[in-house]
Amino acid sequence: MGLDEDALDYHSSEPPGKLEISTTKPTNTQRDLSLAYSPGVAAPCRAIDDNPEDAYNYTAKGNLVGVVSDGSATLGLGDIGPQACKPVMEGKGVLFKRFADIDVFDIELDHDSTEAMIQSIRAMEPTFGGINLEDIAAPACFEIEETLREETDIPVFHDDQHGTAIISGAALLNAADITDKDLDDLDIVFSGAGASAIASARFYASLGADKDRITMCDSTGIITEQRANAGEVNQYKEEFARDAPEGDLADAMEDADVFVGLSIGGIVDQEMIQSMADNPIIFAMANPDPEIGYQEAKEARKDTVIVATGRSDYPNQVNNVLGFPFIFRGALDAGATEINEEMKVAAARALADLSREDVPDAVVKAYGDEPLQFGPDYIIPKPLDPRVLFEVAPAVAQAAIESGCARRELDPADHREQLEA
Ligand code: NAP
Ligand code: MG
Repeated sequence: MGLDEDALDYHSSEPPGKLEISTTKPTNTQRDLSLAYSPGVAAPCRAIDDNPEDAYNYTAKGNLVGVVSDGSATLGLGDIGPQACKPVMEGKGVLFKRFADIDVFDIELDHDSTEAMIQSIRAMEPTFGGINLEDIAAPACFEIEETLREETDIPVFHDDQHGTAIISGAALLNAADITDKDLDDLDIVFSGAGASAIASARFYASLGADKDRITMCDSTGIITEQRANAGEVNQYKEEFARDAPEGDLADAMEDADVFVGLSIGGIVDQEMIQSMADNPIIFAMANPDPEIGYQEAKEARKDTVIVATGRSDYPNQVNNVLGFPFIFRGALDAGATEINEEMKVAAARALADLSREDVPDAVVKAYGDEPLQFGPDYIIPKPLDPRVLFEVAPAVAQAAIESGCARRELDPADHREQLEA
């Protein structure tokens, strides 16, 4: 059977879908029920009424994330709307649970205005310990997240933006190291200027890249000051407008150190790779087909070429599952009021550092016994490596504490032990 048929069977086997609710307290006796519900339940209600922070002690809020979407940019499927995107949001819930034991309510909203989205999600703050915005189209996604971050006291994180930024940022730290290049000395070219590209460009600057040496291309070509002055680009693209002559992606890639593809498949050829600087770094992350294939990019040159894609069948898969479960685990455990830049940088550095450690045999086996050793073909950890949880979540929690947005103090060693238990 093909993948599509298998997937339909997987989803429709009883019970339909991929998630269910289960209870965590005894419900066997009359007494149990009068504690779980009326009249006993009034006691925690009164406690929370007196002290709202007690919601973290008496309800599931602290381990519950809302995965919220309007379906306007679902996977590579486009604007398929809120009902059709539900399998993806349930799937995100599966990954949160499987990788970080975080519970999820998936919430699909039938809205077509940015303001309505903001209003609905803001009103959900009492329910959740955090909000993962998912598959919301650019540029609305930027305003929705920025506004909610300002107006709520729980972490709000648009994974399509920051997940990609953090994981490819970790890959960039290691790729620069392997090719002996300094981050602030890199000419970086982006293909794509949407949700993931804008967030990644901003994040690479947080990691130490020089924002003035980032060139961004959209479907029209290089984003220049000329185009910005002519009002041709939105305010987010304008942030990266270059004082440069107009040109296309091929022009931009000449002599560049790094290519970051977050656009569409197949738009880069070997000649473009050959025009880049020595030992180029190629992150071709369009899904399902990268801007240029792993083999094709490797074979284009004789020097070291570091290639990452979104594909699981080649080395260096940039996959968001390496990020969001562990970032939220750290944020929730520290009771963080947000996921800030310091926490994102801590996550990227923890991922980058972990790639330098020896990989346990069980992980090597899970990936078909290919050697996994720090180098051009292993610059980020593998998603099924259990150490990612123990490294990334404590690093994020500590960054929350140090940057002053945590509700709780946590000793890093205790935290790790708790996670390993
Ligand atoms: P998005 O917000 O829709 O942005 C897509 C961008 O690509 C737009 O800026 C668009 O230009 C640009 N584009 C389209 N055709 C182009 C061309 N011929 N040349 C240059 N740019 C072109 O989408 P997104 O969420 O950022 O995702 C973009 C891609 O990255 C998708 O393929 C997605 O699957 C992939 N992605 C991969 C990962 C991963 O982990 N591997 C993570 C996130 C995203 P205009 O602005 O002119 O329309
Ligand atoms: Mg997504």
